[in-house]
Amino acid sequence: MIRSLRTVRPAAKAPVTARACAKVNLDLRVGAVRPDGYHELSSVFLGVGLHDDVTVRPSAQWSLTVEGKHTEGVPTDETNLAWRAAVAVAELGGVDQPVAIHIDKNIPVAGGMAGGSADAAASVLACNALWEVGLDRSEMLTICADLGSDVPFCLSGGVAVGRGRGEQLVPVLSRGTFHFVFAASETGLSTPTVYAEYDRLHEAAGSQPDDPGPNPELLAALRAGDAYALASALHNDLEAAALSLQPQLGEVIEAGIEFGALAGIVSGSGPTVAFLAADQESALHLAIALTASGTSRQVRHTVGPAQGAHLVAPAGRR
Ligand code: ATP
Repeated sequence: MIRSLRTVRPAAKAPVTARACAKVNLDLRVGAVRPDGYHELSSVFLGVGLHDDVTVRPSAQWSLTVEGKHTEGVPTDETNLAWRAAVAVAELGGVDQPVAIHIDKNIPVAGGMAGGSADAAASVLACNALWEVGLDRSEMLTICADLGSDVPFCLSGGVAVGRGRGEQLVPVLSRGTFHFVFAASETGLSTPTVYAEYDRLHEAAGSQPDDPGPNPELLAALRAGDAYALASALHNDLEAAALSLQPQLGEVIEAGIEFGALAGIVSGSGPTVAFLAADQESALHLAIALTASGTSRQVRHTVGPAQGAHLVAPAGRR
C-alpha cells in the first residue's frame, strides 16, 4: 500500500550509507523453464566479505555516480538497479524527494557475484533509513524480489537456500569461516546469455534438467564447518554453459587447483571463478600465485559467511 506523500527537506538530512556483500553459489541447481520464463532454481548462497557501499543523500534531482575498482559497464541512469531500488522505496513509502546515489564499487561487474543485486539491496536499506519510511523486513524483501532474483539474498546475507527463482530464502546453519579467492575475468558474461547456453546444451544432448534441490552433503559440510567436505560438494549446473562461452575459464580453474585450492568453481553465471582454500594461509598463497602467474589480473581473497545489507557510517566518517 502506498503511504501518504511527503517531502523531505534536503538540508535536513545527512547522507546514509549501506553496505552489501557479494555472493557465491555453493550449490546451484537449475531446473526447467517455468511458464514465466524463469528457470526453477535451488541455490545455496554464501555471502562473502567483498562488498559495495551505496550512499544516498537528498538532492534537487535524481543522479547516480560510481567509483571504485569496478566501474566499467555500470549504468549511471535510471536503469541502474540501485536507482530502481530507490524509486521502488519512494513509491511504496509515498516519498517525493529525489536522491543523489553514489556507489563505491568493489564487486566485479557481470561477474556472477550479484554486484548489481547487492547495490539494489543496499539502496533499499539506505533509502528506507534516509526517508524514514519505516518499511519492515518483509516489505523490503518484497521490493527486493521484484527487483531481481538475487536481491533478497543480498539483503539477508549469511548462508541460505534460495528456491523458486532464488528469491524464496531459508537460512542455513553454518559453522566457522570459509576462505575464498575470487579470480575475476576481463570480460563479463551476461546472465541471460549463460542461461540460454544452458538450455542449448540440454537441447543438443536431448536431456531434461532434473528437479532442483540442495545437496544434503553440502549442507552437512556447512553445519560441520568442514572446508574439505564443502570443497568436494561444490556444484554449479551453469558451469558447463559458462565454460562453453569462455573456455579459458577451464585453465583458470586448473591453475588454481595446481596452486593449492581445495576446489574451483564458476561463480553463479560466471565468469568469475571462486576457489575454496583450506585456511587463511593457503588462501593468501593461492591469491599471490594466481596473480604472479598472470592467471588473473583481478584476484581477491575474502571470507564467508558475511552479513547481509547493513548501514555503515558514510565514507570519511568511519
Ligand atoms: P548475478 O550474479 O546476480 O547474475 P552479475 O554479478 O553477473 O549478476 P551484475 O554485476 O549485477 O552481474 O551486472 C549485470 C548487469 O547489470 C551489468 O552488465 C549492468 O549492465 C547492469 N547493472 C545495473 N545496475 C548495476 C549495478 N548497480 N552494478 C552493476 N551492474 C549493474
